Amino acid sequence: MKIKKITLIQTDPPLPDYFTQAHVMPRHGFIIIGTILQNKGYDVKIYVENVQPPSWERILDSDVVCFYSVFAGLNRAFEWADKIRGKKKIPLIIGGTASSYYVTPVLEYFDYIVHGEGDETVVELLERLKADRDVDDLAGISIKRNGRIINNFDKKPVSCLDIIPDYTLIQGYQGVVAGRKSLINFIQFSRGCHFNCKFCVVREMFGPGYRTRSIDSTIADIKDKLKYSRSFLFVDNDFFGDREKTRQLLQRIVRERIKASFTAYATIHVAKDTSLLKLAKKAGVRMLVLGLESFDDRILKDFNKKQTSREMIESIKSIKKQGIEILGSFVVGSDNETKASIKDIIRQSNKYAFSHIVLFISTLNNTDRYAEHVPNSRILVRNIAYFNGCYVSVFPMNMKPTTLQKAVIDSYREFFSFRSLLSCFVRGQFKAFSCRCFYRKGTFPVLKHMEKYLSYLAKIEEGMYDENERLIEEKLPVFKDKPLKNI
Ligand code: SF4
Repeated sequence: MKIKKITLIQTDPPLPDYFTQAHVMPRHGFIIIGTILQNKGYDVKIYVENVQPPSWERILDSDVVCFYSVFAGLNRAFEWADKIRGKKKIPLIIGGTASSYYVTPVLEYFDYIVHGEGDETVVELLERLKADRDVDDLAGISIKRNGRIINNFDKKPVSCLDIIPDYTLIQGYQGVVAGRKSLINFIQFSRGCHFNCKFCVVREMFGPGYRTRSIDSTIADIKDKLKYSRSFLFVDNDFFGDREKTRQLLQRIVRERIKASFTAYATIHVAKDTSLLKLAKKAGVRMLVLGLESFDDRILKDFNKKQTSREMIESIKSIKKQGIEILGSFVVGSDNETKASIKDIIRQSNKYAFSHIVLFISTLNNTDRYAEHVPNSRILVRNIAYFNGCYVSVFPMNMKPTTLQKAVIDSYREFFSFRSLLSCFVRGQFKAFSCRCFYRKGTFPVLKHMEKYLSYLAKIEEGMYDENERLIEEKLPVFKDKPLKNI
């Protein structure tokens, strides 16, 4: 089979979410795959829907089209696949967590699902297709053969992370650089995580363990991206997972006098290392995104989160003491969640003047591949567009769906209220103040959609809860199919 022109498409979720409202978000791993393919000699173009819509002319001229989709954008990928199928018979490949979760429905639209890291798998898949070789035993893919699904989930983690993603492959990106939305460069120094929190997909995506990229490659990448923006987000799940390597990277940033500001995902455990925090601050780390999840120890235990609320507060204080801002990331709606535990999130986030918060509403359910988090019968919305962490999509155990949705809306309104903003200001928390002002703009349109969704939830929850808002499980509907058969 001739394969020369490859088009990559990142679909947009149809409903607004917290991040795409505020930032242009090309998926880092997808751009890396495009770059690897280009380095292999393919003619590659990447379309990110919220940057520039894919060119139909280019698609029809392509030999292969690859898609990346987050959960909520999966329907868009299906629409594109359907449209392409109607015009041309070419291999359609898809990657991203959503496709690995829902293999059965996804293979109704796509020829190949690439699981986890695609860096090597996509290259090998294309090489085999080009040589008309069998792909059935290729590690890291799922395919359908004569109506039977072959799942080769397991594969070795990618060994070399030293790829500098080429953003010029993203069509229209240059226009955005000069345009309306704030631009953050995404950069990666590591993959994987030492922990294994119950709700998290990191292990499934990257395998167990933690790998770092070379410092030379990371520095070269930072320098390459300075032309777009001086603002960077390390997309690593735990930027400080190998403290000594991170220390070396930060020292190099300082030594080379790279003037940029960095945001990084971290666990609270970094706060034990004050010298590392000081160095991070000196190197330009402005904000840490902390996976706090909850201030309720029962919930933390349920999540297998290796931290207590007391340790969290100690760490928050240490991080703030070094002048580093905090974005608190929380997961709400699990079975031990109550209105009080959600209120506590906002109380603590205001008390410690977080710059921003994200409350992800727990969405995971039974899928082809992964362990059951909640049974299918508790899924209350059949449209995956709502699975973006902003909408209640499963029946909560201890409060009505409307109660949970309203609690999330009220939490944001409180966090971004003029009173809270003023409180940051008078306490001299100016960075938190300006950061909240910025994210307020992006969050409020999402809240409007959440408010509209309340009437749907009110209908669906009728008669499903007792007077204490405890779910009456016997009333749950019985679904025989996998949850997303009807998306
Ligand atoms: S610490 Fe963060 S990245 Fe690691 S498993 Fe837990 S939630 Fe996932």
